[in-house]
Amino acid sequence: MKAEIIAVGSELLLGQITNTNGAFISQKLAEIGVDIYYHTVVGDNPRRLDEAIAIAQRRADTIIFTGGLGPTKDDLTKETIASRLGVSLVSNEEALVEIKAYFQRTGRLMTDNNKKQALVLEGSCVLPNRHGMAPGMALEKDGIRYILLPGPPHEMKPMFEQEAIPFLLGMLGTSGVIASRVLKFYGIGEAELEDRVQSILDKQLNPTVAPLASPDAVTLRLTAKAESLAAAEQLMAPVENEIREMVGEFLYGIDEDTLSSKAAELLLNRGLSVAAAESLTAGLFLAELAGEAGISAALKGGVIVYDKEAKIEQLDISRTMLDQYGIVSKECAAALAMQVKTKFNSDIGIGLTGVAGPEPHDNKPAGIIWIGIALYDGTVETYKLSLSGSRNSNRRRAAHYALYYLIKHLQ
Ligand code: ATP
Repeated sequence: MKAEIIAVGSELLLGQITNTNGAFISQKLAEIGVDIYYHTVVGDNPRRLDEAIAIAQRRADTIIFTGGLGPTKDDLTKETIASRLGVSLVSNEEALVEIKAYFQRTGRLMTDNNKKQALVLEGSCVLPNRHGMAPGMALEKDGIRYILLPGPPHEMKPMFEQEAIPFLLGMLGTSGVIASRVLKFYGIGEAELEDRVQSILDKQLNPTVAPLASPDAVTLRLTAKAESLAAAEQLMAPVENEIREMVGEFLYGIDEDTLSSKAAELLLNRGLSVAAAESLTAGLFLAELAGEAGISAALKGGVIVYDKEAKIEQLDISRTMLDQYGIVSKECAAALAMQVKTKFNSDIGIGLTGVAGPEPHDNKPAGIIWIGIALYDGTVETYKLSLSGSRNSNRRRAAHYALYYLIKHLQ
């Protein structure tokens, strides 16, 4: 299957909204092994949309449209497709009943142009819209599949996952289930991760293995097709084990895990408490942890000690030590961690100090960060980072690295 996505809407061309629908549909198609060769964005203009369809018909066998299914006169997607394919638009009884019920439920007045939303391409399979009014459609004509989806992402996404994907799988002759598992890594760049698991990426087939980078993690998504969920999991297990052997030291979580949810889960499971002394992050670390439900059983508290004097006054950090090694130092990070652990009577203390940037500070270049972790056994570990981002990205990453090192200790 060779797919092309056509996103319709002048606001996409004007840059007022981003084509997130295109990204979502592409990701989901990749998961079921459909190749996407082109994305087209076209305005609400029937002539140009018609041209875009004509081009797509020459190079794709599956064309997926989003947007332009609404009731207003600039919503012209289905009319334009109908005229290009030479099929008529017919009123769909079920869709009309749904639309009338929607207006009754919301106490709004139904106008005549709302009836337009119940018009569907003759012979198409109607994809119900459970979160809005405009139904979607799927149609096969002359060897090409056409799928029409609404523009609003909260309507499009469930329709695509629950209606369009099964339709496409049926076309592909695939029965059974698709299961995926996301492995989440931190402390390793996307390029290095890909390099290390290259042998797996080269031979992948079922499961497919797709790397993806976001600001907070690098992920590998495993997707398997099989007769049952258990069989799909069986296909993924050996590949996951192989990946764990290669880069397991950077793996911190699975699927929906985040750095803070994983750290919270481990602290709570092990019955350990934590406190933090934050300089450059000024509370980011504590705020992330505090976002996790149930964390009050593990989070003791902390202090923001931004200024040198605050470090001395609030945490009794030695002035002589700070004068000798500087605020941005291994010694300072270790002292912050130990002192906050003592003051808050916690099992673990975290200390964060560094130069957020953009200017150097305390004779240290921007991006140098030290993290200290004082452990329950009385030992202290320190870690140095050399980051090259903007001020706030350095601060955010410092907090995330602290969560990551905490996870690694707890694991
Ligand atoms: P409606 O019934 O709301 O008119 P529609 O199917 O006609 O739905 P559009 O009018 O094209 O869709 O778009 C409605 C809204 O959906 C847009 O204002 C925008 O917020 C969002 N949207 C449309 N297309 C996309 C896209 N490709 N990516 C992300 N959001 C989109």
